[in-house]
Amino acid sequence: MASNLIREWNGIQQFPPSTQTKLLELLGKFKQENVSSLTILVMGKGGVGKSSTVNSIVGERVVAVSAFQSEGPRPVMVSRSRAGFTLNIIDTPGLVEGGYVNDHALEMIKRFLLNKTIDVLLYVDRLDAYRVDNLDRQVIKAIADSFGKGIWSRGLIVLTHAQLSPPDGINYDDFFGRRSEALLKVVRLGARIKKQDVQGSAIPVVLVENSGRCNTNDSGEKVLPNGIAWIPNLVKTITDVVSNGSKAILVDKKLIEGPNPNDRGKLWIPLILAFQYLFVIKPIQRAIKQDIAKEEKPLWELRDMGLSQRQF
Ligand code: GDP
Ligand code: MG
Repeated sequence: MASNLIREWNGIQQFPPSTQTKLLELLGKFKQENVSSLTILVMGKGGVGKSSTVNSIVGERVVAVSAFQSEGPRPVMVSRSRAGFTLNIIDTPGLVEGGYVNDHALEMIKRFLLNKTIDVLLYVDRLDAYRVDNLDRQVIKAIADSFGKGIWSRGLIVLTHAQLSPPDGINYDDFFGRRSEALLKVVRLGARIKKQDVQGSAIPVVLVENSGRCNTNDSGEKVLPNGIAWIPNLVKTITDVVSNGSKAILVDKKLIEGPNPNDRGKLWIPLILAFQYLFVIKPIQRAIKQDIAKEEKPLWELRDMGLSQRQF
């Protein structure tokens, strides 16, 4: 039985007490709102820190991390349970292979997710990458084409390697702001999200530092250069996304095998055209014909048709 595979979330005890308290408080909130489980999907390019982030959240080394090798070819779901709440977190292979979007990996992820509901998407990239390019846009587009662009209203951007000194003397928060803006722009373009679609619920961007050398504060919590204890901050942002009023994404057969979910409305186009032809254009043509038939013809036309009685 699947439930046998859900282990107790002991990794929480690895966190310093103040982080544990904050996490248990957030889990308590879920319980109050009758949310008993949460499924988080982690996606992004290869080598950006997806697996490391999964390990950091769970508090155990549950998935393999590798600097050089390409990742495991299959998605992996890790489930942990604590105080009546179950966390499912799905690590996936990188979405880029040889400079292109890896459609094979994406297909495999879709099939793995069949009949699962995605509550949150963590889109992982690095803070210390200075540029965004067309490939980033293609990856975002591929995610939106596979799961519908609605998945982005359940999405948050995670930036790893967050313990850095920005280049060119830029202040840390300015650097973070500029990197976030660049990525958010690529997400809006790639997923074709209109400004009005994201009203009030902009996609959050969260910083993560998976390295064991991450600085800590007086309570032993891992903190970023801006002083933020990032694990509770990440989990808090996840809970905000869950309660932002948008719908979770059910991955059903229709979503996997059907056409691009963003094109669904377009299937009506031929029907609408047929309707217009039969019920709008045809009646107008008929009315014009009748009008012409009823019209009194000028004498010269009748004469030309040889119908006039009068001789000129
Ligand atoms: P994935 O391919 O996206 O799953 O990336 P991994 O989690 O396997 O990480 C790739 C490499 O980056 C590994 O050597 C990790 O130790 C390293 N790494 C991941 N996240 C961080 C981070 O936040 N900071 C630092 N310094 N290294 C990281
Ligand atoms: Mg990995």
